[in-house]
Amino acid sequence: MIRGRYVDSHAHLYEYSEEDLSKYCNNEDLTIVSVSEDLTSSLKNLKIGESCSNVYVAVGIHPWRVNAVSREDLSKVLDMSTWVSLIGEVGLDRRFTPETYELQLKVFKEFIDIALKYDKALLLHAAGAWREVYNLIYRSGVSTAVFHWYTGPQDLLKEIVSSGYYIGVNVALLRQNKMREVVKAAPLESMLTESDGPYEYRGLALHPHMIKDLIAEVAIIKGVHQEDVVDAVKRNFEEFLKRVKAFR
Ligand SMILES: [Zn+2]
Repeated sequence: MIRGRYVDSHAHLYEYSEEDLSKYCNNEDLTIVSVSEDLTSSLKNLKIGESCSNVYVAVGIHPWRVNAVSREDLSKVLDMSTWVSLIGEVGLDRRFTPETYELQLKVFKEFIDIALKYDKALLLHAAGAWREVYNLIYRSGVSTAVFHWYTGPQDLLKEIVSSGYYIGVNVALLRQNKMREVVKAAPLESMLTESDGPYEYRGLALHPHMIKDLIAEVAIIKGVHQEDVVDAVKRNFEEFLKRVKAFR
């Protein structure tokens, strides 16, 4: 059982100052997945995971970082991902970094291979490459994945849901119409909540403590009680962890 009421399935805790991190580390209300972008952040996250019992760590190479990471560093992160249950943030990005797409594809495929071989979950970044990422993981047989901050097409959303993958609903919903449309269409059973903190979206600083407001908004959109959303997300997250035996 996870503790607390709220789940943040995607944050970058290593980017926070010691002082800000102390608000989230061992927070009784929040269970957080801290995703990585390269070797340094993966190592920092593992340290954070050691001292914060409410934090699950994911290691990986972010598609934005593929050309800044040496082959040696990549090997180290790939090696770490064989024994850490969660892999992320990994994937493809055609929207913000199309110029490195070929390299992104190579790196992403290596993480997919590890996820398959060692039965790991993928925390996916797929901006502008939603279909490509879905096809790759679905056709290769990846069983457990979450599409972080899903704002892709509605027809693909249906496929993601029926394949048993999860949708990351970001706190940016508070001002992003596309995110709102996804929440309208997706079943509660496929949703995980997330902040992507400390990322900034159109002047809105995103942080884990905003999950509470996100839940309230999702409840309004879906026409259900807040408790129903809290329970559904917790159930989904527990199932997500259970599938890859990520306990702590
Ligand atoms: Zn992120």
